Amino acid sequence: MRSFILLTILFTTVSLFSAEVRSLPDETHPETYYMSGDELHTFLQNLADKHPEATLSTIGQSWEKRDIYSLEIGNPDAPAVFVVGLHHAREWISLEMTAHFAAFLLENRENNSDIDNLLNHVDFHFIPLLNPDGYLFSREENRHWRNNRHLFDDGHIGVDLNRNYDAAWVYNDEHLHGEAPFSEPETTALKELIEKKMQTGEVAGFFSYHSYSQLILFPPGSTETPYADVDMMLSTGETMAKIIKKECGRAYTVKQIFYLYPVFGGASEWFHDVTGAPAFTIELPPAAGDPQGFKLLADDIQSVLYEQTGAALYAVERMIAGEDVSYDDNNNGILNWYENTAWENLSCDSENEDSDDERSEGDSDTKTDGDIEIIDYYDEDIAFDSESTPALSGCSLLIFL
Ligand SMILES: [Zn+2]
Repeated sequence: MRSFILLTILFTTVSLFSAEVRSLPDETHPETYYMSGDELHTFLQNLADKHPEATLSTIGQSWEKRDIYSLEIGNPDAPAVFVVGLHHAREWISLEMTAHFAAFLLENRENNSDIDNLLNHVDFHFIPLLNPDGYLFSREENRHWRNNRHLFDDGHIGVDLNRNYDAAWVYNDEHLHGEAPFSEPETTALKELIEKKMQTGEVAGFFSYHSYSQLILFPPGSTETPYADVDMMLSTGETMAKIIKKECGRAYTVKQIFYLYPVFGGASEWFHDVTGAPAFTIELPPAAGDPQGFKLLADDIQSVLYEQTGAALYAVERMIAGEDVSYDDNNNGILNWYENTAWENLSCDSENEDSDDERSEGDSDTKTDGDIEIIDYYDEDIAFDSESTPALSGCSLLIFL
């Protein structure tokens, strides 16, 4: 009964704040709903119209010629931080996270001096939907679709965009990694955006949101040999996990990508290789083994945004300031990012309490990234129907995230 009451209080609180916090563009985007690609475009356009300091641009087009958008916020002369969502079509929460991270900064800059100060020192680029074709296909045809919609001559469809970057890229199957590094227009669009910034200024960091499993990962994924700044990425990730745990109770595991499973051609490894800056691949809720899997209930979007945004802002501050940023356990992160915002009094302490005992360490066995049998299982002719719950528990197949 107690948990029911707490839950009721929570949802009441969330719904009171939700419209304001999530900056819903209109009535077509209720709380219990993931926005479509078209609605995302409207959402970003509305933000750009309302906030002159935000610039919405098209950075490229997908295989099926849909625009890929980037929203630039902050000081264009400052070091750049890139925030990317939805490499993988079925990971819908990553789009919401990226879009609302941007909205939170724009809508609270006036009332929160820490946010204003940060935006004076960072050039943010938000790309919430890198894979618009795959997302549409996941929404309308096959909920578990992962790749883009590249149509090959042999009739096969799709390349895994997060295996298509020029970082330890391997040619073992064009349907997995693509025919060459950056063979896909979606990865090329992101590459060109980042390289353009590198030619004119400094690049400070990278976030790539995925789901699921509640992991904060950092590169490299192709080798166990860590980068020289492994301590910075590990300690930043561990503090992010502490902030998240404190906000909504969800437990995250922090580890190098390689120790989840080897990844060749991954985005964060390419980013780190070419910029030398820290990069994080964040697997959002639910936890590993949760039967929701990729189908996180839309009711949970709010709490994910709430707990992740503060953690990400801590990481950005550290990317910009270096090692000097400390974290006070008695505070909600180093700075009070939520002061004077709609989230100031929001709390979800009891909502998602994960005990550390339940925390999944992920699958640390060494698997082969190019295992075609496994990939095909999640490919166009999906082996389970899209309405069924993914059989994650007890499933011997590796689930790629
Ligand atoms: Zn993913």
